Amino acid sequence: MPQEFKTKLKEKKQLTPDTWALTFDLGVQTLVFQMGQFVMLKILLQEKKDFAVNEGRKQLQYRSYSIASSTAEKNFIELIVKKPADGFVSRYLTDIMDIGDELSTMGPYGNFILPENPPYESIVFIAAGSGVAPYLSMMRTVNRSTLPIRLHLLFSNKTESDIIARKEIENTCDGNSLLSYDFTLTRADGSWQGRKGRINIDMLAPHLSNKKRTTWYLCGAPAVVNEVNALLEGAGISPNDIKQEIYN
Ligand SMILES: Cc1cc2nc3c(=O)[nH]c(=O)nc-3n(C[C@H](O)[C@H](O)[C@H](O)COP(=O)(O)OP(=O)(O)OC[C@H]3O[C@@H](n4cnc5c(N)ncnc54)[C@H](O)[C@@H]3O)c2cc1C
Repeated sequence: MPQEFKTKLKEKKQLTPDTWALTFDLGVQTLVFQMGQFVMLKILLQEKKDFAVNEGRKQLQYRSYSIASSTAEKNFIELIVKKPADGFVSRYLTDIMDIGDELSTMGPYGNFILPENPPYESIVFIAAGSGVAPYLSMMRTVNRSTLPIRLHLLFSNKTESDIIARKEIENTCDGNSLLSYDFTLTRADGSWQGRKGRINIDMLAPHLSNKKRTTWYLCGAPAVVNEVNALLEGAGISPNDIKQEIYN
């Protein structure tokens, strides 16, 4: 059941040039959620540092963020917040909020979940940028469990330095035979040895042979999710086997 509760900013960690991991302390509350769900932050903007609430913007703002921490963590939640160049509230969360500041948080919400006993053999997670957040929760949780399911992450970013949680993803997958990953870069420099370009049908092809037993999860900005969805449907994947979380 969704609830509203107080959270306190406990840690802010910059992961890439424009993305932060924010950890919020739950205090005496516990949040029971499923892998892949999100919370909605209820943010009463304060005029501090160089932040001004102007241009007719409301002081009370609501923004949704996928929970990136494992469902096993009971005392805190970690959120991955990307700050677009013109991001209003994301700038407040990442630059202006101080450790110890409080927020109201509502949730958990959403059906973009990995069930505890999934009725499929393998899952392909497709992410662009901060869209990796729900998969971090799933991989962190599954890595501690005995869930007999193969998970593959196909993660698209602009450059190498934009890959969120790269080391963690590599280490987790290298130590678990059921987990694997592929990175692709749309603006790779000459030194990048991995995949290049936007997600295309050749990158999806290795996972298309087990059509009936594979489920596809797509998460990120609308353009990427819609593009990959069209590729999958064009390859004969049933819409019932595609789950989507669109960040808009
Ligand atoms: C269910 C759900 C879960 C979400 N989970 C996350 C999450 O885990 N991490 C996360 O960073 N965001 C997530 N979002 C998006 C988030 O709620 C905000 O929309 C985002 O942080 C931008 O808010 P803002 O006030 O900074 O930008 P605004 O000032 O509202 O918008 C600024 C500009 O940035 C663009 N923009 C917004 N979000 C992004 C983005 N992620 N990447 C690139 N451009 C963007 C907007 O289209 C707009 O042009 C989620 C959205 C939904 C609906």
